[in-house]
Amino acid sequence: MKVFVAEKYGFCPGVKNAITLAKKTLQEHEKVYSLGPIIHNEEIVNELSEEGLETTSSVDDIDKGTVLIRSHGATLKQLDQMRSRELNIVDATCVLVKRVQKIAQKLDEEGYKVVVIGDEHHPEVQAVVGSANNVVVLGGQDDLCKLSGYGKLGIICQTTQSPDYFTEMLGKIIEHGFSELKVVNTLCSETKRRQDAAVKLCKRVDIMFVLGGHHSANTRKLAELCKNHNNQTFHLQNWRELDKRLLCGIDKAGVTAGASTPDKVIDEFVAKLNEYSSQQ
Ligand code: SF4
Repeated sequence: MKVFVAEKYGFCPGVKNAITLAKKTLQEHEKVYSLGPIIHNEEIVNELSEEGLETTSSVDDIDKGTVLIRSHGATLKQLDQMRSRELNIVDATCVLVKRVQKIAQKLDEEGYKVVVIGDEHHPEVQAVVGSANNVVVLGGQDDLCKLSGYGKLGIICQTTQSPDYFTEMLGKIIEHGFSELKVVNTLCSETKRRQDAAVKLCKRVDIMFVLGGHHSANTRKLAELCKNHNNQTFHLQNWRELDKRLLCGIDKAGVTAGASTPDKVIDEFVAKLNEYSSQQ
């Protein structure tokens, strides 16, 4: 069995920055909290927790100390709460996520009904929702009814969605007819590079492995895209999750990883796949 790795995979600049900032903050401050898991990767979260990073879901749980805002960002309400509690804020929001929040505010100020295409439960989308007035989230075609009664729409997208999905949803919105649509491309180019490389690779292998946390939106999207082109696509967190029976009769295996997956997880997976193959 030959093992191929996607041309682009793993940590993106936003995640790298969040981890570096977390480590630096832990060295400089006594009590450090992260509002939600710093990234969607259990190993890194556990590693940082051992170094003292405490993860909490609400500002209400923090009386004093330092709060690290993760790459997905925080809502204006959370920021206000942190300021009113006089907490020390270290902002690791990815610049591309911040850009989406600023665009949402600007569209709102310009009089557009702000529409975000994405997953309403994802922290990045929740932060965008909290950054402007009455933002509507479209999680799929069933949500289009939420737009009735509006004329001018300002449309943006969760950074980790695929261009195909963004285009498909825009097409559906246009079918509903609105007087004015302003579309701003807020997709993350780092995510797109990983998606393009994964799709290219999955088309030429017998089996495709997408590595990353099960809660990681960008990893899930990578797996979904690969599955569209290669039915034998599997989203795994690491080598331990692999059912070795899947490797029976496989000539070519492909590997990629989401933006929050550490290199060591990918390196271990590829090394073990090669080792397994040489023993057959
Ligand atoms: S995937 Fe893109 S938007 Fe998200 S943290 Fe990484 S660089 Fe930023």
